[in-house]
Amino acid sequence: MEETDANPRRTGRRLCCLCNHRRAALKRPKTLEQICRECFYEVFEEEIHQVIVDNQLFKPGDRVAIGASGGKDSTVLAYVLSELNRRHNYGLDLFLLSVDEGITGYRDDSLETVKRNEIQYGLPLKIVSYKDLYGWTMDEIVKMIGLKNNCTFCGVFRRQALDRGAALLKVDKLVTGHNVDDIAETVLLNILRGDIARLSRCTLITTGEDGPIPRCKPFKYTFEKEIVMYAYFKRLDYFSTECIYSPNAYRGFAREFIKDLERIRPRAILDIIKSGENFRISTSTKMPEQGTCERCSYISSQKWCKACVLLEGLNRGLPKLGIGRSRGLDNGHRNDIRQGTGTQHIEGKQCGSLDF
Ligand code: SF4
Repeated sequence: MEETDANPRRTGRRLCCLCNHRRAALKRPKTLEQICRECFYEVFEEEIHQVIVDNQLFKPGDRVAIGASGGKDSTVLAYVLSELNRRHNYGLDLFLLSVDEGITGYRDDSLETVKRNEIQYGLPLKIVSYKDLYGWTMDEIVKMIGLKNNCTFCGVFRRQALDRGAALLKVDKLVTGHNVDDIAETVLLNILRGDIARLSRCTLITTGEDGPIPRCKPFKYTFEKEIVMYAYFKRLDYFSTECIYSPNAYRGFAREFIKDLERIRPRAILDIIKSGENFRISTSTKMPEQGTCERCSYISSQKWCKACVLLEGLNRGLPKLGIGRSRGLDNGHRNDIRQGTGTQHIEGKQCGSLDF
């Protein structure tokens, strides 16, 4: 419904501080300005456009896959990117790319949302599944390993599945719906875990330029609350149920901490990202060298990529091999497994309920 009163000044209702004409309908989380819906849509979309232009995320003719989980972030990303592509003549070929982890009662439902988005936005959809790629569904993995470390398997497999799906679509770029809250959370978690290599990477708007397919985050400066508002006001069709295997408590605490900071000072989120960007990597810190996995040829800084290490554990009926101690292996395998393991890493959102 239109928020315009016949004469807002006479009714004493607050006017939008941007157009000074329509009635303010919301307080913008990023700036705390009271604005109307129309101005909100405009600033929200144009800020994303500016990020795309300033960072030269795309070039005309690019084929771009949008990592689509059916959640609010990727749904808004698909909608806004299609709009901007039309409005500003980016000249992009857009696709939806989804990963089916094989989680009954969760991913099967959210994929139905993506299938509707395919029709609503007229974007071709490609779905890749863990079962086809790895021979395992998350339901089967959880049956074997229980609810501890399941997200490690899922996060590692998803990362590679997206790259494999993007390769099938022959795209030039993969975009994900990581928003400013996710990135701030990841900065904090990488500091807490002392993961210097990933700390230096996680604030980059584009990553993987030396890998198979570069990934970028057009929502790097977009507040999660604004994404929710946008999806709500635009009545976008998205899926909001959490994964039934979601135990990511550590990440959850970091998220809550950032939300507390945001309540006191909304820009604290942007400040955390700025801090992450300003960290300098000491020259004595050894950074992993990029190579390829001896087994599957996927990019890896170790002999085997992490997915192959985890798969080896699963297929041998010893799932903990890939995530912790390597008992029960001969020396050759043990070394391979160890090399590929290391600490648990945080590339970004591990959880499908938080998009990709
Ligand atoms: Fe996968 Fe996320 Fe579910 Fe963990 S919570 S199993 S990462 S979808």
